[in-house]
Amino acid sequence: MTPQHSVAPAPALAEKVIVIGGGIVGVCCALYLQREGYGVTLIDPAAAGDSTAKWSCGQMAVSEVIPLSKPGILKKIPGWLLDQKGPLALRPGALPGILPWFLRFLACARHSKIVEISEHMATLTHHVYEDYAPLLAACPDKTLMGERPIIEVFDSPSGLEHEAAHLELRKALGFKSEVLDRAAIADLEPSLAGKFSHGLLFPDWRAVSDTKGFIAALTQSFIEQGGTRVRGQVKRIDEVADHASGVTLGSGERYAASHVVIAAGTGSRQFFDQMGTQIPLAGIAGYQVLLPSPGVEVRHSVIYADGGFCFSPMTRGLQIGGTIEFASPNAEPNFKRADIILEKARKILPGLQLDNIEYGVGYRPFLPDTKPVIDRSARLSNVFLAFGHGQLGLTLGATTGRLIADMVAGRAPAQDLTPFSAKRFALVGGHA
Ligand SMILES: Cc1cc2nc3c(=O)[nH]c(=O)nc-3n(C[C@H](O)[C@H](O)[C@H](O)COP(=O)(O)OP(=O)(O)OC[C@H]3O[C@@H](n4cnc5c(N)ncnc54)[C@H](O)[C@@H]3O)c2cc1C
Repeated sequence: MTPQHSVAPAPALAEKVIVIGGGIVGVCCALYLQREGYGVTLIDPAAAGDSTAKWSCGQMAVSEVIPLSKPGILKKIPGWLLDQKGPLALRPGALPGILPWFLRFLACARHSKIVEISEHMATLTHHVYEDYAPLLAACPDKTLMGERPIIEVFDSPSGLEHEAAHLELRKALGFKSEVLDRAAIADLEPSLAGKFSHGLLFPDWRAVSDTKGFIAALTQSFIEQGGTRVRGQVKRIDEVADHASGVTLGSGERYAASHVVIAAGTGSRQFFDQMGTQIPLAGIAGYQVLLPSPGVEVRHSVIYADGGFCFSPMTRGLQIGGTIEFASPNAEPNFKRADIILEKARKILPGLQLDNIEYGVGYRPFLPDTKPVIDRSARLSNVFLAFGHGQLGLTLGATTGRLIADMVAGRAPAQDLTPFSAKRFALVGGHA
């Protein structure tokens, strides 16, 4: 595909788009489609803001382009199976179901593939702030996204040395980082004074301090600009002569549409059979503990690399969490993992107050190569696919929305979207 700009005619008044899923990706698609002049209906069973990103770390992690499948991962798998307290865990019962996903994931754990994936992801993350700007400008609250860099700390110099190759790659892709010593860490983040002597600062990341409120504010802006949000679960996409004609909800209600966008996070899997595809989309759990009155002031989001979790100062309190857990799709959350994180966090910040703590879990919609799908369905050409954003959905919401709006409007997007094609997972004869 040759990247180019072209002017598409304004949509006819009758052209209506349904966006399935009102999480961060869905609401950003809805807002960008609305800006094109479409009548947009956003459908989600949950209240605005009650989606996966509510329990995210709130980071605009623009340089987090290195995939999860870092080399050496194969050696770590036995450890994950044995140590359910580690930052990465694989519940033994999940192994058979997740094996095909895992094999594709391991195939990405090569240096050349890591570089290629990082380059592809950077083509998206370089546009994050310019893509969010018009959406945030339309919201009355101008503090939704803060200019707050993120700090990463390590137990020893080896942690930092281990990151050297990734830092080089990030630098080559145009992202900034600064090495921090003990004094610089203490200066930036007094709560960590004397506790870490090796760290990194990512000056080009920003942060959202109210993840639920962020999505709720974008949704409110969408409604105030004439959009409709319906509380309901889409059961199927209706079809007429190889075209989507709308959707039917679980309640039996039907909504007609000229275009449909699937942006339902892990819930997008429900539509794969109908689309005639089997995209390997897994839901990878991350746990959080929220301390409403932590008793310790943490100023920045701090990634504790060796612990595999993050301290995120939020408007609701101090959130501590992260971790990666591979479990079966219908497995109950294991909140013991959140307690394990809390235990580790208290070793670093012994003054933490635990009154009224709240636990949360989110399922990151992950594809084995860590890249999202941003594409058009090959079977129903007026259905668009926007899911699989893994650990970067909050970061990539607006950029995905802009690109989906380009495709719906019939414009060639300004960048090559082949790396984000659904067909990259097709076996011979398969299509998405
Ligand atoms: C612990 C943790 C930390 C994270 N930290 C960060 C971070 O710092 N930065 C970052 O960028 N990302 C982060 N993420 C990742 C981010 O949260 C996800 O990538 C993002 O939420 C995915 O957004 P989404 O809109 O695609 O899916 P979701 O947020 O899951 O939203 C999908 C929506 O679709 C709805 N839905 C599902 N099925 C249907 C249906 N049939 N009909 C109608 N609606 C349906 C659901 O109710 C849901 O509201 C983190 C995730 C976790 C778990």
